[in-house]
Amino acid sequence: MNLCDFAPEYIRSIQPYQPGKPISELAREMELDEARVIKLASNENPLGTSPLALEAMVSALHDVALYPDGSGYELKSELSKRYGVSPDQIILGNGSNDILDLAARVFLKPGAAAVYSQHAFAVYPLVVQMIGANGIAVPARDYGHDLLAMLDAITPETRIVFIASPNNPTGTLSPEDELFRFMERVSRDVLVVMDEAYYEYLPEANKPDSIKWLKQFSNLLITRTFSKVYGLAGVRVGFGLTHPDVANLMNRVRQPFNVSSIGLVGALAALQDAEFVQKSYALNRAGMLQLTDGFRKMGIEYIPSYGNFITFRVAGDATSTLKVYQSLLRQGIIVRPLGIYEMPHHLRVTVGLQSQNQRFLESLEHALGELA
Ligand SMILES: *Cc1c(COP(=O)(O)O)cnc(C)c1O
Repeated sequence: MNLCDFAPEYIRSIQPYQPGKPISELAREMELDEARVIKLASNENPLGTSPLALEAMVSALHDVALYPDGSGYELKSELSKRYGVSPDQIILGNGSNDILDLAARVFLKPGAAAVYSQHAFAVYPLVVQMIGANGIAVPARDYGHDLLAMLDAITPETRIVFIASPNNPTGTLSPEDELFRFMERVSRDVLVVMDEAYYEYLPEANKPDSIKWLKQFSNLLITRTFSKVYGLAGVRVGFGLTHPDVANLMNRVRQPFNVSSIGLVGALAALQDAEFVQKSYALNRAGMLQLTDGFRKMGIEYIPSYGNFITFRVAGDATSTLKVYQSLLRQGIIVRPLGIYEMPHHLRVTVGLQSQNQRFLESLEHALGELA
């Protein structure tokens, strides 16, 4: 026995999360010019960061010798006004992944269980396994969550259900009325985590009124992030909205300074920049049409998406899909293979700038030509 053999079996068997390949890594591996590489692999905002947020963060750099405000007072006050919840219902995280992790650490233990969907965000099984709890993956329906089957999958040991809407990597949306009925039927002894990382990319007509439901359901935790439409993925800020008692427990577990001072001021300023959010939304809508048009012209099957990314299928076997992925890499385009999501025939591409989408489509056509 050596030291590492003493780590619990559930830790040693964790498959590490595979992030999108960084631009610098691909440039090094393929001897490409970094400036020519396009990363469409991590659902980042192709417009970058809100200029207001950027300015606020640059100013805040002068004070990095000081610890951040551990309570996140200002950001919570602003979120509280914006969403009509009290500050004690808000929990801030080092990205919304931190919130998912906190929820697991508060409510799970070895022997407890959590339910999520097949093809759902990879962080759910990860945070469940880190605790030594059991993950129950419910088969998807048309790549989306089968909410009724998820209800049925809940056992007496189940303490958390994770719902991603829109889901990553499939882009599927659970309709508002189905989500509400789920909340009505699920036991109040089970925390329902509604992961709304892509909420701001939804057209108004598709946005569920989930925050209103907090009044009615003490077992609801809504998570949102500054990583996507706000363009702050690198500084790691997310938040959760929930019942004050749940937030209180999560606050006891989190690190005292889990959000950096730069992240706090960046997020606060980003919230004020409605113009940047609107521009990002509009660019995404146009880019989504451009990509789906391109797919249709090439006869490529895709899963209609409500996010800032879209998942498409490569005809042939799983090897063909990896070949297309590799060919795109050689052409300087990074997308995401979905083998770890049990979707070995699919690739996920983030909606980029018009010119990036164009180059992606041309490169994809070239890659498919190489296959044939
Ligand atoms: C991107 C994403 C997040 C956000 O992660 P952060 O930690 O906030 O960067 C959360 N959930 C899903 C489903 C995502 O795709």
